[in-house]
Amino acid sequence: GAAVPESECDVLIVGAGPAGLMLTAWMARLGVKARTVDKRGTKVFAGQADGLQCRSLEIFDSFGFADRNPGPDGAIRRSDSIPDTLVGVSRFQEVVLHQGRIERFFLDHISKHSSLRIERGVLPEALAIDEGSVDDPLAHPITVTLRHLTEEEATPHQAAGAASGSKNANGEQPSDGLFRSNLAEDDTDELIRKSSGREGSTEVVRCKYMVGCDGAHSWTRRQLGFEMQGEATDFIWGVLDIIPLTDFPDIRCRCAIHSADSGSVMVIPRENKLVRLYIQLKEIVPDASGRADRSKITPETILKAAQKTLSPYKLDYEYCDWWTAYQIGQRVGTNFDAHQRVFLAGDAVHTHSPKAGQGMNVSMQDAYNLGWKVGLAALNRIPRAALKTYQSERRRVAQDLIAFDHKFSRLFSGRPAKDVMDEAGVSMAEFKDVFVTGSLFATGLSVDYGASLLVAKEGSPEEQGDGTSLDATAAGAAPEGPPLVGKQHLATNVKMGMRFPSYQVVCHADARPWPFQHFMRSDGRFRLVIFAGDVSLAGQKARLDGLCKALAEPGSFLRRLTPGDAGIDAVVEVLALHSAPRRALEWLADFPEVLHPWRPRSGWEYDRIFVDAESYHEGHGRAYEGYGVDKERGCVVVLRPDQYVAYVGELEDVADLERYFGAVLLEPEVWAGRGKVA
Ligand code: FAD
Repeated sequence: GAAVPESECDVLIVGAGPAGLMLTAWMARLGVKARTVDKRGTKVFAGQADGLQCRSLEIFDSFGFADRNPGPDGAIRRSDSIPDTLVGVSRFQEVVLHQGRIERFFLDHISKHSSLRIERGVLPEALAIDEGSVDDPLAHPITVTLRHLTEEEATPHQAAGAASGSKNANGEQPSDGLFRSNLAEDDTDELIRKSSGREGSTEVVRCKYMVGCDGAHSWTRRQLGFEMQGEATDFIWGVLDIIPLTDFPDIRCRCAIHSADSGSVMVIPRENKLVRLYIQLKEIVPDASGRADRSKITPETILKAAQKTLSPYKLDYEYCDWWTAYQIGQRVGTNFDAHQRVFLAGDAVHTHSPKAGQGMNVSMQDAYNLGWKVGLAALNRIPRAALKTYQSERRRVAQDLIAFDHKFSRLFSGRPAKDVMDEAGVSMAEFKDVFVTGSLFATGLSVDYGASLLVAKEGSPEEQGDGTSLDATAAGAAPEGPPLVGKQHLATNVKMGMRFPSYQVVCHADARPWPFQHFMRSDGRFRLVIFAGDVSLAGQKARLDGLCKALAEPGSFLRRLTPGDAGIDAVVEVLALHSAPRRALEWLADFPEVLHPWRPRSGWEYDRIFVDAESYHEGHGRAYEGYGVDKERGCVVVLRPDQYVAYVGELEDVADLERYFGAVLLEPEVWAGRGKVA
């Protein structure tokens, strides 16, 4: 037959849900030659996930799209603030925005920054890894056969919706998400089998890295033979996105309604008078095989169950936007990667009930953790050892999530306790307690990565993370000598392993106040944040000058690790925050040049030197207090490209900085292609 076309790329991403799109966004920003394929012909338009954590919003902001217009009525707004978003932990509060909208943000961002496009109606049908070359950083050890589907093959059937006579206001069938639910059989094998009779529809791609973001039924995971640990529960839930016709007074508040014996309903108010209802379907029970009969589940049966729980209040609807049903399972993958070449992210490595509103967030955050590492490794700018931290960092988060979800969904699915002696029931005090203690977890801000090549903190790598025994080099620790450990006491609220918090600071050059985090962009650069202290004192100014002089030295890590023809801030960006009165020093004359690099075409960089001071209009950020740093003496902080804190030290700890960056960044001479360099 005709020869099958063959090609090469650096990174192949399978699946364009939230995880796959986050990865593609990183590839776009880093300038990595990547391809993203999805078996579906279209993106998600409605329904599915819709709760966004603070941390996800911070990540969106770091890419530059947290404040994008979601519709005719203005910026992303807190359409419904959930009262237990903890006050003061982040610049952002939880918001509700549906997955289709979020996917749109990603797609626009990807096309703005690159020529990468999502290839729809394409799926892999064979995967081979050449184990002999997995350790060669420049090799393309992965071979994947891709199949191109016809439009019809790539369109999911909406069978269940057709059976129910339900119509929305335009007389159309409401769209259903059952085909993506775990109650439906996955159709990947069927798609491959059916279409393989056609000719000329496959191609072979050889790549350096591959990431399976292909959801709960992950084909990639099955090819690797990896197991999921955990179990399915018997709880079946239905989901309705409707404009409710009801006399229930709290319909515009996020709340949970527990009935004595007909199950629970969770209410999540949304945009345009819509409400999402999560409804326990007590009457639908799995059969002996553990699966429920999905043909029994229609919008009508779900509504009936909700009516029972809400009684004596009335509930009905004319308009249904979207609906689905799912069975709760709580599972974590045993392995997150094979040879640090093929990775799994998102629902492909952890599944749980959607009510805690975590799945999409954690999935995107997996991909956010992995994206810069895989991208920079593909460009041979960081060593492959750094890739081991993906599993050690993210598997523990997945396990915490399952534990959280376990508690949470048991509380939702159980019936209320009659009194304190009723042990089978759920006490409302316990319910509230889990809700409150879970709320920090639910912001996504409590994630704390362990010691590794990338995080220079106390603790041996093998204690960190996932329980599989890792030797020191396996978790990416420095090959010789005691591991580098930063000095946490110098910045008590800039925790190594956690994300850099944000406080208001004032730009020295123009007096404008900013949240400091605004400058920690997701562009693939590491950052050195110098808390310069009170530089109006001669002794302290000398300390800062000494550090900056060492940084500018020809043999310094900053010079060595930056390509000669690129700006000095191309690989590691240096930012300073001092605590002297703004008028005591001139930003240009009094600060060393590494703090205001000059560009031949655009002049000085103005936004590198900041002050912790009263702003003209927005008050005082009290950043030094917030960060827990001594106002006079300061400290230095290293941030990874994902804003997680890697190291804290004194202004004199240049040797530590050399050691950190020397181990984490490769010299430009060995880079494979450049990607995008500032
Ligand atoms: P998916 O979104 O499942 O994306 C996988 C993609 O891969 C799909 O586009 C699929 O077409 C494609 N694909 C699959 N197999 C193949 C293949 N073989 N080849 C090529 N492509 C393939 N999460 C929250 O954070 N907050 C919420 O409020 C929330 N609510 C939810 C409500 C409901 C009703 C449901 C069902 C889920 C909810 N979730 C929520 C969970 C969230 O939707 C998922 O966790 C999230 O979508 C996972 O993202 P992902 O990218 O890993 O996988």
